[in-house]
Amino acid sequence: MIVPFRNRLQEVDPACLTMSALQTLQVNLGDRCNLSCAHCHHTASPGGDRTMGRQVMGEIAGVLAGHGNLALDMTGGSPELAPDFRYFVELTAGLARRRIVRSNLTVMAEPNMEWLPGFCREQGLVITASLPCYLEENVDRQRGEGVHRKSIAVLQQLNSLGYGGELELNLVYNPGGRFLPGGQKELESAYREELSNRYGITFNSLYTLANAPIGRFGTQLQGEGKHDGYMDLLATSFNPLAAAHIMCRTLISVDWRGYLYNCDFNQALGLALHDDTGMPLTVSSLGSSLLQGREIRFGQHCYCCTAGEGSSCSGALVGGT
Ligand code: SF4
Ligand code: SF4
Repeated sequence: MIVPFRNRLQEVDPACLTMSALQTLQVNLGDRCNLSCAHCHHTASPGGDRTMGRQVMGEIAGVLAGHGNLALDMTGGSPELAPDFRYFVELTAGLARRRIVRSNLTVMAEPNMEWLPGFCREQGLVITASLPCYLEENVDRQRGEGVHRKSIAVLQQLNSLGYGGELELNLVYNPGGRFLPGGQKELESAYREELSNRYGITFNSLYTLANAPIGRFGTQLQGEGKHDGYMDLLATSFNPLAAAHIMCRTLISVDWRGYLYNCDFNQALGLALHDDTGMPLTVSSLGSSLLQGREIRFGQHCYCCTAGEGSSCSGALVGGT
C-alpha cells in the first residue's frame, strides 16, 4: 500500500501543500496533434476536437496584461494546430516575461505549416521540443515511424534561424518505458555531443521528465499488468528535495474552456479547481492573489513529480542544473 502522496508531502513541509506566488500560466490550446505518442497523458491525436476559442484567449491575455511578470507556456496536443494559435500568439505579444511553445517539432514539417518556424522566430517564442532520444529507433518506437528523421530536419532548420543560439531552444527527454530518467546533467551532455557530432545540431538545455502513470501510458501499464509496479518505483524513489520544488506551487494550468487546474496532469485527469460553492474556477476569475495560498489537489500520480531528481515542465527539480 503506497502512502497517500499528500501525507508524504506534508512530512517534508506543510507549505508544499499550497501554492506560492504564481510564475507561469500554462495554457493548453487543445488536444489535436499530428502524432499519437504511446506515452501521451492527454491521449492527443489528429482526431482531437477540443480547441480553445478567441474568447478564452482574450481572457488569458487580460490576466497576462494585469500581471506583467508571468510566463506563458503553450501546450496541447500540438498547440500550433489550434486554429487560432497565430491569433493567440499575436494577441499576447509583449504581455508575458517569456512565452514558450511546447512543440513536437514534426508539426513544423506538416503540409501548410511552412510559416511556423519563421513565425516563432518573429514572435520571439522560446521553443521547448520533445525529442525522447538522439537515436532513431528509440524515438520512432515511442512517437511513430519517421518522427526522428523529421525532428532532426526541423531542428537543423531552427538552428539556421538562430534557435539554439540567440533564440532559446530546449529539448525534452522522457523515458521510453517503465523507468525513471537518468541524471539530467549527464543526459544533456550526451545529447549535446551526439546531436552535434551526428547532425550538427545545437540547443540550450535538456529537460528530463518522468512519464506520468495516466492517459495513454497509464492505459498501457494497466493492460500489461504493470501499473502497480510502476507506482511502486515512483513511490520508493520519492525525493524530499524534489518534493520541495514541485511546479504546481508556482504554475496554473488553463484548459481549452478556460477552466483552471494545478497542472497539465491534473487537467488530463479532470481535477479542476473549484471555488467555495463548488463552481469550477475559470481564468476570467483569476483575481489579484493569483491563487496564492490555495490548497493544491494531489493524487497518487503526483509521485511522478518527486521521483529521483524530480520532474517538471522545466525538467529535473534537483541536481539537473
Ligand atoms: S505526447 Fe505530445 S506530441 Fe505526442 S501525441 Fe501527445 S501531445 Fe502529441
Ligand atoms: S502531478 Fe501536478 S499537482 Fe501533482 S505534484 Fe505534479 S505538478 Fe503538482
